[in-house]
Amino acid sequence: MSRTEWCLKYKVEKKCSTTKARAAVFETSRGKVHTPVFMPVGTQGTMKGITVDQMKNMDIEIILANTYHLAHQPGTEILDKFNGVHNFMGWDRNILTDSGGFQMVSLIHLTTLTEEGVEFAYPHDQTRKLMMTPEESMRIQKSIDSDIVMQLDDVVSAGIGRGPRIEEAAERSVKNPVYRWLDRCLESPLGVNQNIFPIIQGGLDPEPRIKCSEEMTRRKAPGFAIGGLSGGETKDEFWRVIDNSAPLLPVDKPKYCMGVGYALDLIVLVSLGVDMFDCVYPTRTARFGHALLIDGKELDIKRGEFAPIEPGCPCECCKNYTRAGLHILFRSRQSVASSILSIHNLMHQKRLMTQMREAIIADNFPSWVFAYCEKNFSDGSLPQWASNALCKVGVDVSKFVGKVMKNKEERSSRHDMKSYKSIPKESESKDAVKS
Ligand SMILES: [Zn+2]
Repeated sequence: MSRTEWCLKYKVEKKCSTTKARAAVFETSRGKVHTPVFMPVGTQGTMKGITVDQMKNMDIEIILANTYHLAHQPGTEILDKFNGVHNFMGWDRNILTDSGGFQMVSLIHLTTLTEEGVEFAYPHDQTRKLMMTPEESMRIQKSIDSDIVMQLDDVVSAGIGRGPRIEEAAERSVKNPVYRWLDRCLESPLGVNQNIFPIIQGGLDPEPRIKCSEEMTRRKAPGFAIGGLSGGETKDEFWRVIDNSAPLLPVDKPKYCMGVGYALDLIVLVSLGVDMFDCVYPTRTARFGHALLIDGKELDIKRGEFAPIEPGCPCECCKNYTRAGLHILFRSRQSVASSILSIHNLMHQKRLMTQMREAIIADNFPSWVFAYCEKNFSDGSLPQWASNALCKVGVDVSKFVGKVMKNKEERSSRHDMKSYKSIPKESESKDAVKS
């Protein structure tokens, strides 16, 4: 018998009267999360180089942890002794775990997919295998005791477009017509305070997405994710899938889009009605000496300047360090440099989401979006896809799309699938290569 009662409660505080953006709050047994929200990724029960007190000082309310990595290290036996990852890492706020399914794409050369589940070989020891079935994913996430659990889905990149493999993935993720993965997840035991989100699949076409979400929303889950994106599809296809999928999901539940972290992507997706995001991008790019700026640009800390990264930013990095000081720390490969810059980059994400939230509540979100574009793309550098998406929801920013951008095709990809080969050697540190 599938569970239908969940502890997560979601409440919309304000809907934008023009776009589909919404400001909301949800609450679990571990506290409130104000949305739209960006969730930093702490892969293995820790946020690389950042303490839990530093995260709390930034007012971070929820983080993401990876099931696949936690199953490998420290493993469920140890997690059970700690009664979950919260005690293990000393974090008493919300945690969302992915299902382990994404590694089907990122470690595709190490996986074998069957109806039963997906078998991974561990990258560092390929003789060791992990059979990730829906039941096993739930068992691990129960040991982790995450507040939001993701169903194990059959992940297939929307970038491959259309066809039988996309249909198979959408069907396998839900019970249609035989025993399928979502129902196997829902029938597996979870903690009373845990909440599960199904993941809508179906590639680029509306039809399989509609079918998949109809089946999934019939199950009374406390929230939903839109999956299978950022896999090499064009950005224009990417936003259209979100635009078609988000309205298919219940209005009284949070909507989550995985693997999204670039400022413009966040702004567009919030406009289309998405509430939750995560990405390794802010912390990963920090480890390579790249700072995120509120004007949408990325600063490579190569030169010495006696100013903070972002004047006016309240973070520990901007309060205490100059660009010149950080540059020296990066050049001499001091690990504290990555930590300090990660704090700034996470604060950047927090400030961006807070600005959008406040604008939605004040019902001037469209003007905020327009002002953001005016400030950052007045030279005509706004991508055509972003303008298409924003115009669709009533924010006409087409004047910021210059001639060059009109025919430029951009593709969407997960940041954790990207190589950093082009980054200058001087800012590269050895341990930064791992995600
Ligand atoms: Zn800062």
